[in-house]
Amino acid sequence: MSIRVAILGYGNLGRGMECAVKQNDDMELVAVFTRRDPATVKTLTDVKVYNVDQLLSMQDQIDVLVLCGGSATDLPKQTAEYAKYFNVVDSFDTHAKIPEHFAQVDTAAKEGGKVAMISVGWDPGMFSLNRLYANAILRDGSDYTFWGKGVSQGHSDAIRRIPGVKDAKQYTIPVEAALEAVRNCENPVLTTRQKHTRECFVVAEEGADKAQIEEQIKTMPNYFADYDTTVHFITEEELQRDHAGIPHGGFVLRTGKTGLNGEHDHVIEYSLKLDSNPEFTSCVLTAYARAAYRMNQEGQNGCKTVFDVAPAYLSTLTPEEMRSTLL
Ligand code: NDP
Repeated sequence: MSIRVAILGYGNLGRGMECAVKQNDDMELVAVFTRRDPATVKTLTDVKVYNVDQLLSMQDQIDVLVLCGGSATDLPKQTAEYAKYFNVVDSFDTHAKIPEHFAQVDTAAKEGGKVAMISVGWDPGMFSLNRLYANAILRDGSDYTFWGKGVSQGHSDAIRRIPGVKDAKQYTIPVEAALEAVRNCENPVLTTRQKHTRECFVVAEEGADKAQIEEQIKTMPNYFADYDTTVHFITEEELQRDHAGIPHGGFVLRTGKTGLNGEHDHVIEYSLKLDSNPEFTSCVLTAYARAAYRMNQEGQNGCKTVFDVAPAYLSTLTPEEMRSTLL
């Protein structure tokens, strides 16, 4: 019998999940739930859309509920709310608030006897796993994470809020020289400015003061002031044509020394280059949805992160197949 998956929240990630489930023979997508009027939400396939009010009444038809809401305000409420009733998976990515989110979700999932997998994706998610593996192996070393080249939704939104800006897209770009220094085991101590640059493509309202907009972007505290930022003004058509995608990616590195006197250098590097951030994130979510279901079938419950999941739970292969083809 296939694993019956449902999606709550139909944005970029929700659409990505719809595609990702189709690539997994052991899963079927039973429904999409939204807080909006279902009649206004058009899915990519013919999967049915329901209002979230109907979710609890369909409990016996769903094995895993994948929460595709936003990390800022949706997931802090939704994950704990539904972990009482369903095995759930979310992609909560506000790193500083993960411990708080974990505690809330853990209580709810234990109450309901369900498995709740939080902060699944690529960062947090695959990058976190690679940081942990590298740290466990190279005990004497340094960690580095670089993001990009990719679109930062939060930074793009921040630019859009400036008066006179019609639309904008912001790319985070790793500084190549810094990456090279790390790969060469130079153990650089890097400032924020030395690790990433920011490139902005901005559509200004007609008659807006572009110099003033550029100044406001470059001096914006937290978002841009600590980075070397480039601003390009382009037309709406150019933005649509050249910047419609949601690419992302990055690098997790750990360099370390071994030997009696630390005479040998080692570099561990994991990298991702993603054409579509939400579609890739959804692929990670499907693998962990499988794990959540299996772990719950075995009697486990409570909140889990990628650190708590043995790799074999993620795969559709049998243990024998894994040992003969992947080990
Ligand atoms: P979106 O803004 O596209 O969607 C968020 C929610 O907004 C949806 O679930 C949907 O809820 C609602 N929504 C979407 N479109 C509309 C619309 N046209 N009108 C009104 N409401 C709408 O966010 P993403 O899907 O891009 O990202 C979700 C989260 O995923 C992010 O907040 C991010 O934190 C996380 N993420 C995590 C990653 C990781 O590596 N861990 C990587 C990438 C993303 P509803 O249907 O109920 O209205």
